[in-house]
Amino acid sequence: MRNSNRQWTIAARPVGRDVVESDFALVEGPTRPPGPGEVVVKVDLLGFDPALKGWMENIGGYVAPTSIGDVMRGSGIGTVIDPGDSGLGMGTTVIGPLGWQDFSTLPAGQLRTLENDGQLSAHLGVLGTTGLTAFCGLERVGKPFPGDTLVITGAAGAVGSVVGQIGQIGGCRVIGVAGGPDKCRMLTEELGFDAAIDYKEGPLGDRLRELVPEGIDVLWDNVGGTMLDTLLGKLALKARVVICGGISRSKTGGMPVGPSNYFNLVFRRATMEGFILNDYEADYDRARQRLKSWLADGRLQSREDVQAGLENAPRTLMRLFEGANTGKQLLRVGD
Ligand code: NAP
Repeated sequence: MRNSNRQWTIAARPVGRDVVESDFALVEGPTRPPGPGEVVVKVDLLGFDPALKGWMENIGGYVAPTSIGDVMRGSGIGTVIDPGDSGLGMGTTVIGPLGWQDFSTLPAGQLRTLENDGQLSAHLGVLGTTGLTAFCGLERVGKPFPGDTLVITGAAGAVGSVVGQIGQIGGCRVIGVAGGPDKCRMLTEELGFDAAIDYKEGPLGDRLRELVPEGIDVLWDNVGGTMLDTLLGKLALKARVVICGGISRSKTGGMPVGPSNYFNLVFRRATMEGFILNDYEADYDRARQRLKSWLADGRLQSREDVQAGLENAPRTLMRLFEGANTGKQLLRVGD
């Protein structure tokens, strides 16, 4: 077993500004041997989510606070290289909160074993929290009906690209909002969205007037800020607005700016509801089964952006806020 372990720790909190590389420090030391009930896992693949920035800032209060010097959190897939007294087999593939490091020593109870089914990375994406967020949020909060117009912001990202595909399976007319012609082409030509709007190309309001004259029935928002505000002005009667994320706040600092168009909720008798995936744990097994079957029959496609090398972990997180990723942002750590 290799003893030396590289770990990325939190060096500064990116409050009110973008994440920068100096928010992290790379330290190297021995791999901690397992204590009672613990295992050592070689980290193979890490998943990245914009929420990691919020966790570094300690906002929201829905996860345990982080401290400066902590190993950066992150979900990952890895291989058990020292099972300790856990009863797990040597070489078992596991998924869990492995963190940004070569080797993770953690309680076996925090891990789930995975079958090596040839689609391992999907367990961090469409079959992982990304897919579960899309499925549970849409079913529980968005409540789409066949024929509804579903508009998604951050549509070419991990969650957005799954929301749109589930909406299509459910018979919705799906319109994605994304940055740049390549992402928009991917949405319509590869994922089968009915239309895509490149918000960087021109005023969003103009395209909405053209594409959703009858208004939006379900609005899935990953972005917040002025984009959400514009979209709130286009709601149909009884629309449901799903607040999943607010990534635009990384540019404006603090919390996302509030919408001035919120009173349209009254005129349109609409609802706007935020959610956190953890609220729907009871739905996970059913959701995973549905996502798996759609993946198997080709109705759901997985989009992944895979970077390489633990040394690139900070830069990989930054890609999310630069719009550099398409689909789920992953980083291959081991060889
Ligand atoms: P993602 O969409 O794959 O990655 C971020 C994307 O956001 C970028 O590629 C970029 O796409 C877009 N973006 C970045 N800065 C932007 C800005 N200033 N204005 C507009 N768009 C911007 O990330 P994800 O993992 O799927 O997560 C999507 C959202 O869901 C995040 O806000 C995340 O925190 C949230 N989330 C919430 C829950 C929950 O339980 N509520 C669970 C998981 C994720 P473009 O190139 O198109 O701009």
